[in-house]
Amino acid sequence: MRLTERVHAALSEKLQPGDFAVDATMGNGHDTLHLSKLIGPDGKVWAFDIQDAALERTRERLEQAHQVNASLICANHSELEKHLPRDALGVIKAVVFNLGYLPGQDKSITTEASSTLAAIQSAIRVLAQGGVLEILCYTGHSQGLEEWLALETWISNRLPESVTVSIMSPYDATRRPPVWLEIEKH
Ligand code: SAM
Repeated sequence: MRLTERVHAALSEKLQPGDFAVDATMGNGHDTLHLSKLIGPDGKVWAFDIQDAALERTRERLEQAHQVNASLICANHSELEKHLPRDALGVIKAVVFNLGYLPGQDKSITTEASSTLAAIQSAIRVLAQGGVLEILCYTGHSQGLEEWLALETWISNRLPESVTVSIMSPYDATRRPPVWLEIEKH
């Protein structure tokens, strides 16, 4: 099973109809759609991206699936707290980060270590107790490797006491494998 599928399986176990969730990196909208289906018409998804192309692709994907419970926001995910309504703060059940660039678009427009770290810290603040952050980091490209090294340093030195972290990465002797980080708030 690919890591993206494992993340979706973990989200399926965690989320219930009526929950609130955030997609911090909307991209082509696969994660937004998955979240949207899991939480159903009584739930709400807030999805972020800095590129209009991502919002267009995600809007189309949601429309085709007749999903109407997502707000698509063109903004940096480091500012996510500014864009969430007050009643969502502290009750978000899951936040997904699928780091990197938008496939088929300019690869130089990619997530960056400093804003990713700021966004992760912000996401932890808005999580409910028992809520999770699911983060996929692709270390095979230089920006992704830089992000992973920054994340590792942050986990080792500045991880808040309110969370626990699990890290999973498939062994691959031929290339740097992607890393899946799950951060749970307790
Ligand atoms: N989750 C997506 C999906 O299901 O198709 C894939 C995400 S793609 C690998 C990463 C996305 O993060 C790109 O669309 C990129 O534009 C976006 N991104 C990069 N920097 C960002 C930032 N600071 N805030 C929000 N989105 C950002």
